Amino acid sequence: NKIEDDYVMGESLGKGKFGSVFLCRSKVTGVEFACKTLPKGEETVHKEVEIMQHLSGHPGVVTLHAVYEDAESFHLVMELCPGGRLIDEMTKEGRYSEHKAANIFKDLMLVIQYCHDMGVVHRDIKPENILLTASGKIKLADFGLAMRIANGQSLSGLAGSPAYVAPEVLIGDYGQKADIWSVGVLLHALLVGVLPFQGDPLEALFEAIKSRELDFHSEKWQSVSKPARDLLERILTRDIAARITAEEVLSHPWMLFYTERTL
Ligand code: ADP
Ligand code: MG
Ligand code: MG
Repeated sequence: NKIEDDYVMGESLGKGKFGSVFLCRSKVTGVEFACKTLPKGEETVHKEVEIMQHLSGHPGVVTLHAVYEDAESFHLVMELCPGGRLIDEMTKEGRYSEHKAANIFKDLMLVIQYCHDMGVVHRDIKPENILLTASGKIKLADFGLAMRIANGQSLSGLAGSPAYVAPEVLIGDYGQKADIWSVGVLLHALLVGVLPFQGDPLEALFEAIKSRELDFHSEKWQSVSKPARDLLERILTRDIAARITAEEVLSHPWMLFYTERTL
């Protein structure tokens, strides 16, 4: 079957580096989905599909519903996230309350822990790739740069978004802890409304990532709790061995204090 036989295409939902994403509706069931169309030639699409299928067992991962192929493209029919991107919510919200930040962060860490347990490094964690359901729950999306790695294996290619890239990625020897750094950059942005490392041109940004210390004495940090700062410090640590894991983040006092307990 061709995608046009099974779905009616709708409005554009977003555009990334490689793909364009459109709303679509099943002709059979009437259910709406998001369709990511990727041009052929870039055969990394097979890996993206394979990893999405591999990770389908978690509610925090965008589900892949079907894949179509035609002469020019692949079409990935995915679960629709009607709440849009976390980045747009962050832009509207400015700074998050610690309560709200911790609850989003907990859901995100649970998905990342799952990816890491499944042997996957996402490599492109940023709020453009974190989507929201109708009720505001987060869904991790865009596995276009994700890699499966064996225990102890390390990666070397430069990947990801400059502001979120871990220092060891710049050096070229990294693994799952690179994702933890990226979520640390995100946590910083949630708590104080700005990115921790900035610089222009790119070399200046990379220099900041490799060596700039966080300034917790600055005005913007004064209203943020000590446990929050402690957690952020443990995440944005350049020493990979000292940087905490997803599991350790989830049991950090700040997380335990601010997140709703579930039985
Ligand atoms: P790229 O690899 O090109 O960055 P993404 O998978 O990140 O592509 O998708 C690009 C954009 O399309 C996202 O930032 C988002 O705005 C939108 N999008 C992607 N998947 C969905 C989805 N399942 N539901 C709603 N919007 C989506
Ligand atoms: Mg993307
Ligand atoms: Mg991508």
